[in-house]
Amino acid sequence: MASVTFDKATRRFPSRERPAVDSLDLEIEDGEFMVLLGPSGCGKSTCLRMLAGLEAVDSGSVLIGVRDVTHLPPRDRDIAMVFQDYALLPHLSAADNMGFALKIALMSKVRARQRVDHAAAVLDLEQYLGRRPRTLAGGERQRVATGRVLVRDPRVYLMDEPLSNLDARLRAQTRTEIVRLQNHLGITTVYVTHDQTEAMAVGDRLAVLKDGVLQQVGTPKEVYAHPANTFVGGFVGSPAMNLFRLPLSADGARLGALDIPLTRATLRAAAAGGADEIVLGVRPEQFELLPPEDRETAGLDLVVETVEDTGAVVYLHATAWTGEGLAALVIRLPGRPAHGRGAVLRVAIRADAVHCFSASTGRRLPEDADTSPVS
Ligand code: ATP
Repeated sequence: MASVTFDKATRRFPSRERPAVDSLDLEIEDGEFMVLLGPSGCGKSTCLRMLAGLEAVDSGSVLIGVRDVTHLPPRDRDIAMVFQDYALLPHLSAADNMGFALKIALMSKVRARQRVDHAAAVLDLEQYLGRRPRTLAGGERQRVATGRVLVRDPRVYLMDEPLSNLDARLRAQTRTEIVRLQNHLGITTVYVTHDQTEAMAVGDRLAVLKDGVLQQVGTPKEVYAHPANTFVGGFVGSPAMNLFRLPLSADGARLGALDIPLTRATLRAAAAGGADEIVLGVRPEQFELLPPEDRETAGLDLVVETVEDTGAVVYLHATAWTGEGLAALVIRLPGRPAHGRGAVLRVAIRADAVHCFSASTGRRLPEDADTSPVS
């Protein structure tokens, strides 16, 4: 087992203007399950391939434990990788696929078989060991691919979208299995996905990337509760955080008829560089319905456009007048609201539930209470 360190690791493809991975600094702890998360093209697979030795590092370095592996070939890095397409050998049985790396490593047949049998028991694959990949269902193939990695005893597991070929039910089931195994084996794991729900479910920590640049590293809870910028706020969480660009007033911002008070620290940071706007982020679950008879409490009026009923939760997609223009937003109300398309609602937002970002940089603004005057 080992930690993994990316130290200003950069990969530039000759045909590209921007680096695919730009000066990545990331420390992954020994035994940690780290998820590299971001939209397609953000550079997450390139990071993994740099760690695997499948992609050159143009500047900076990559360490496994204390060992600098930047220029080592893949076979000398002591890693095991699960690919998106599983890459199983079609002419070999599941057992032979799982034991292939051990055969190459010249392990004795008896020991190799013991390892394969153990992995098959852990993955509930015993009845499939004699079958060829093409006779297995997607989930079973995925388990064989995981088994092929499990029989080895690497210092680091690398997984590149390992569940992307599975249907939703199998994906949820297999990701639980992967987390259980990783917890049990305690082997440092770096897992790539563009699916934020999956990332939140499996990761001890997430590293969120955009355009090759690391945006934030933290536990799923930290990243969800304190997104570092509007990109992370919008990307992590489903449905996405609502983002409103609003003019600043002396003591806060106004969203429709709602006054959103802001601390002095927030106001001062928002106005830095002469900016007169702020971006407010509100998650769908942070709205509260005001009773129609309550005309005293200020609220945001909205019209329901569509109702998304997921079974467990109902999301209302609505339009509201923000004071600046019409904005689309998504809200989630407690229980199972019966409001249909065209319903007119008034909602409030808890002031402490608002995320504040700079309108010029998109960065999260400080929130701590600060009583000194606004300069
Ligand atoms: P996806 O989820 O779609 O696989 P990703 O986040 O893993 O995306 P990468 O595959 O790491 O992204 O690619 C990062 C950027 O580098 C993209 O713009 C991609 O087009 C570019 N890129 C990747 N491989 C090469 C290559 N061999 N030559 C040129 N550009 C490349």
